[in-house]
Amino acid sequence: MKRALNFNAGPAALPEAVLKRAQKEMMNYQGSGMGVMEFSHRSKEFEEINDRTNSLLRNLLSIPDDYEILFLQGGASLQFTMVPMNLLEEGSTAGYVMTGTWSEKALKEAQKIGNAVPAASSKDSNYKAIPDISEINVSADASYLHITTNNTIFGTQWHSFPEDMRVPLVADMSSDILSRPINLSNYGLIYAGAQKNLGPSGVTVVILQKDLLKRSKKELPSMLNYQVHASSGSLYNTPPTLSVYFLMLVLEWAEELGGVSRLELMNKQKAALLYDAIDRSSGFYTGHAELESRSLMNVTFTLESDDLTASFLHEAEESGFIGLAGHRSVGGCRASIYNAVPLEHVEKLAGFMNDFRRRN
Ligand SMILES: *Cc1c(COP(=O)(O)O)cnc(C)c1O
Repeated sequence: MKRALNFNAGPAALPEAVLKRAQKEMMNYQGSGMGVMEFSHRSKEFEEINDRTNSLLRNLLSIPDDYEILFLQGGASLQFTMVPMNLLEEGSTAGYVMTGTWSEKALKEAQKIGNAVPAASSKDSNYKAIPDISEINVSADASYLHITTNNTIFGTQWHSFPEDMRVPLVADMSSDILSRPINLSNYGLIYAGAQKNLGPSGVTVVILQKDLLKRSKKELPSMLNYQVHASSGSLYNTPPTLSVYFLMLVLEWAEELGGVSRLELMNKQKAALLYDAIDRSSGFYTGHAELESRSLMNVTFTLESDDLTASFLHEAEESGFIGLAGHRSVGGCRASIYNAVPLEHVEKLAGFMNDFRRRN
């Protein structure tokens, strides 16, 4: 069977090895005569999956012991609400660095909960770049500072991070978690919906400093309370068992490949192919992101005219490339090249871009 040349932004490509393994175990997980989604979430089998997923993630991201790992539902979008509900203290503020559509949504939801304000913004330049760290303005008694490490829609990514801001750093890492090493001790909390780099949709990973759990008030609805999920090992209610199982398979795949440092090298190699095709096109292709802010995950670009863009997208589709149209809010083209997108597929796309340019 031929696999699609899948450049979808999310849900996105999964490693072929993961799909094959899931297929093999679909009806009979480890001789049980049942598929994973048929087990009770209180069964020994599922508890093992839950624990193993937890420890794989802890190893791969070098998560220190004083951090809790939660597997929740509701997507990254629910974290836009849960973060301020749990962490934004009364009489205090939260700062949001505005780098694109997702940070706008995060701020909007936080403002429904408490006093959240922009701490820096690159909106004036249509989010072409990540603001300089020196521009970030957050008060020393703020509850936290929120950033979006990779801007899926605009194709920008943070490459250096605020340190010593004296307030906990909270990061939406939905579209670049597991793509490179991170120094977790810089963060109070990170979160990510799974469907870009971690697995299928349905599970959201939240990693937070245990100390911050003290901020979750008893009055919060239980399902929206980090403390409740932490004290039940993410088994407070029925978790998305199949998504957690897939997450485990993806983490095993990442570990076998050589971990996040290896993935980062591969991601740099893949991104370089596409950025080279853009940079060597003498203006035929224009990258949306400024050089220092370019994303290794989402490569965004436009062509000289809307007609040419349309014809590029049309021919790309005819040639079997999936998911290259840019997000409706930006237009143009976007190639999402998450961990699971094979190098050969990116080589084919770079080849297609060069060929299309020569012909036009
Ligand atoms: C996809 C995405 C989201 C939204 O995730 P959902 O799981 O659909 O809620 C939020 N933030 C970023 C950076 C994303 O890429």
